[in-house]
Amino acid sequence: MGTEDISTPKRTKEIIARHGFSFKKSLGQNFLIDQNILHNIVKAADLTKEKGALEIGPGIGALTEKLAQQAGTVTAVEIDQRLIPILEEVLEPYPNVSVEHGDVLKVNLKELFARRFDGVSKVSVVANLPYYVTTPIMMKLLEEKLPLENIVVMIQKEVAQRMAASPGSKDYGSLSIAVQYYAEPRLVCTVPHTVFIPQPNVESAVIRLQVRDQPAVAVKNEQHFFEVIQASFAQRRKTIANNLKSKYFPKDGREQLEGLLQEAGIEPTRRGETLSMEEYARLSDVLLEAGIGLS
Ligand code: SAM
Repeated sequence: MGTEDISTPKRTKEIIARHGFSFKKSLGQNFLIDQNILHNIVKAADLTKEKGALEIGPGIGALTEKLAQQAGTVTAVEIDQRLIPILEEVLEPYPNVSVEHGDVLKVNLKELFARRFDGVSKVSVVANLPYYVTTPIMMKLLEEKLPLENIVVMIQKEVAQRMAASPGSKDYGSLSIAVQYYAEPRLVCTVPHTVFIPQPNVESAVIRLQVRDQPAVAVKNEQHFFEVIQASFAQRRKTIANNLKSKYFPKDGREQLEGLLQEAGIEPTRRGETLSMEEYARLSDVLLEAGIGLS
């Protein structure tokens, strides 16, 4: 074993062959073998030796190695038990890295942060995510209100575009608002298939989310706010009034609903995809005050 980076195609193939590792498609295992992309991902996180990094799904450690060289403390959570001995071997030169076996969706992240990042000023999540669970992982990271500075992740390009979309665009939807409520997104780059082994059959992109100190808008009840947004996008071709009627006034009450929309300053004939987050915040508060929703 040489000192060559883990992520070079030659070393990656050597590690995989020596351990008799076989890829599991069901775990979204597409490993990175491109130095430039790894460099761009790590650079976007603005790491320093004073900061910490949480990696989700380290694979055989290609990205973990780069994080270890930039951050003070690195913790990587990997679901596949077969990768743990490989990671222990290849990351042995990096005492600032700890690998934990587990499903990130089940891990108690607050406890992990207290244990691993106590005294660390700022923490980034940096990962080449398993695409089959991108949204639940991202929502868990954001909703738990962890002390995060930013999240830099490789994800499916189409999902990245939805996360970063503005009102009025075809990609704008409940995911855009959910993400932008907690963070400011920026698309870092799109990524060709050739940087992975095996190559995924969807396009990929790197997105950076700068986590906000406070949510983008103040609402009386977050759960209600997101419920109203979900309902407003239930059928994209329908007007906001028709979508909300199906959810909250299945029998009658159109007049009351239209009155409440007007009170929130929203024309009932508009479609959900044209409303800004501020308008959803106003609408949710008006509906809540009228006792509509969350019954
Ligand atoms: N970071 C490596 C790289 O870039 O080469 C591997 C990235 S690969 C796209 C995704 C990794 O996430 C795999 O190692 C997979 O086993 C792991 N994984 C899948 N589901 C997971 C989960 N729920 N929790 C933690 N790790 C998971």
